[in-house]
Amino acid sequence: MKKVMMTILMMVLVFDLAIGQEVKNVIVMIGDGMGVSQVYAGLTANKGSLHLERCQYVGFAKTYSASDYITDSGAGGTAIACGVKTKNGTIGMDTSGNSIPSLLAIASKNGQSTGVVVSCDLTHATPASFIAHQPNRNMTEEIANDYANSDVTVCIGGGRNNFEQRKDGRNITAEMKSKGYQVAYSMDEVAKVKSGKLLGLVAEKHPAAFPERGNMLPDAVSAALDILKNNEKGFFLMVEGSQIDWGGHAKNQEQVINEMLDFDRTIKVAFDFAEKNPNTLVVITADHETGGLSIVGGNLETGEVKASFSTGGHTSVMVPVYSYGTGAKEFAGIYQNTDIKPKILQLYGSKK
Ligand code: MG
Ligand code: ZN
Repeated sequence: MKKVMMTILMMVLVFDLAIGQEVKNVIVMIGDGMGVSQVYAGLTANKGSLHLERCQYVGFAKTYSASDYITDSGAGGTAIACGVKTKNGTIGMDTSGNSIPSLLAIASKNGQSTGVVVSCDLTHATPASFIAHQPNRNMTEEIANDYANSDVTVCIGGGRNNFEQRKDGRNITAEMKSKGYQVAYSMDEVAKVKSGKLLGLVAEKHPAAFPERGNMLPDAVSAALDILKNNEKGFFLMVEGSQIDWGGHAKNQEQVINEMLDFDRTIKVAFDFAEKNPNTLVVITADHETGGLSIVGGNLETGEVKASFSTGGHTSVMVPVYSYGTGAKEFAGIYQNTDIKPKILQLYGSKK
């Protein structure tokens, strides 16, 4: 009996290897503040469907931080990026202040291309967690310095002032230019770059809310993928729908829905890429839920949503993890937000 079991196990193993379970490209997408209610508010407003529904597996992640029952985006982002629970407000460091390499840093070290695409200031907590190591998320100039030292291939977002209009007089854009980065100050300029390294600073502070910023986020992801796909070793890309959270803080239902649907259109870009490019994994999650949102009424024919916010802050509830592509099944289940990093590294076949 034991022999039969062993033979079956071996066959399963060989079959798994034969069909190529190797992950080459990973796209991690973070909807800041995106709980299940934010997703369903978007789905209802969109009259019953989302691109997100193409996902193949769903899991849940526990988001509490090392210091608080309710996390902020610094500790939440650091948990996903670096795989450690840390104190609220911390970026890319553990509770003792040690810098922890992020998924992006490890991919870069392994010769892969890397990218960060966000609808906020590039120095804001979520993207910073993948690039920087700072004890406080408000140290935006220091976080911009960390971009210059990161070797990231493509970054697109706002925050030009933190790179160029600084108290210390340094010009980080100029420094990155001298390191070989092409610099783009608008989405038109971003679209022209097809290879090499790109620093896209498309707003002085945060990009505008949707719909004022137009298709900035999905277009920026398309542009980033065009560059990143050139590396035969693969890539790691982090994408953030940054402003879903801000709608929750403002208790503004329309803002939550606008940002959720913009993020969903961005998810379509990632899913389409993964469909055409085997060995790509897409993982979509949140750092925490914002607003304690509940949906107390709605109409799938008219798209009407009746939402109710229970707080202007974050909440503690588990966040959904949606996955698609090679290795997606590893993200089913209930686990810690810090488990996402080791799961991805294992799928990359990377030791650490
Ligand atoms: Mg964020
Ligand atoms: Zn927030």
